[in-house]
Amino acid sequence: SARIVVKVGTSTLTHANGKLNLKAIDQLCYTLSGLVNEGKQVVLVSSGAIGVGLGLLGIDERPSSIPQQQAIAAVGQTQLMTVYQQRFAIYGQKIGQILLTHDVVDYPISHQNVLNTFENLLQLNVIPIVNENDTVAVDELDHHTKFGDNDQLSAIVATTIDADLLIMLSDIDGFFDKNPRKYADAVLLPRIGHIDEQTFEGAGGQGTKLGTGGMTTKLKAAQKMLNADKSMILANGENPSIIFKLLQGEPIGTLFQ
Ligand code: ADP
Repeated sequence: SARIVVKVGTSTLTHANGKLNLKAIDQLCYTLSGLVNEGKQVVLVSSGAIGVGLGLLGIDERPSSIPQQQAIAAVGQTQLMTVYQQRFAIYGQKIGQILLTHDVVDYPISHQNVLNTFENLLQLNVIPIVNENDTVAVDELDHHTKFGDNDQLSAIVATTIDADLLIMLSDIDGFFDKNPRKYADAVLLPRIGHIDEQTFEGAGGQGTKLGTGGMTTKLKAAQKMLNADKSMILANGENPSIIFKLLQGEPIGTLFQ
């Protein structure tokens, strides 16, 4: 596949104390730059703005107030992009920042503008780094400007730019038949071709303190990919260079196809 979207979660990018996991970030930048050098077009959807902002501001708990979260995200986002820029530069890789709201889905003109920007960035061998525009997007009763999570955002990006594959890196080896953090006998499902109510029942609740989506949003993303006749792989992001192995067809994680 020539066009790939990679999504990394907060749990991959930050340590439990909110500090950036520079080893994982470095390996991610090395890997994605390598793919571009091989002639692939790569888009990175990166979470972590709030997690990084919390660490930088010395705040322990994610506050429940939305404006506070937006302020923290604004601080974290710029720090995150600074780190990406430095690390990608080591490998000679250029990046561009794309912040999206649900407008990209709701308005055809916005959709077209976003698509045009992606096409031109990819043409220039730039890796677009995507996040939700947390300053603008608020989910109130009748103002659904928000995607809610980067899992579904990454699937929307992947289908928008017609990428064949979405690689989702998390803090878990793949999708299990039930939450492996609760049930010791949970088994990894290597391949899923169809998602229904029963699949969602295995998804359990929210995962980590800083991550937001848990498995439910990852399944919804996988559903979007399957509906568009495209694939998604969910794998552990502890060593992001496993992406090389994934692309060689090694059976790692869960393949939704
Ligand atoms: P990220 O920050 O990478 O987006 P999340 O913390 O939101 O990750 O989601 C991953 C977590 O989902 C896992 O660490 C695990 O605790 C939880 N989880 C719940 N059900 C399952 C399941 N069936 N298979 C795998 N993980 C599950």
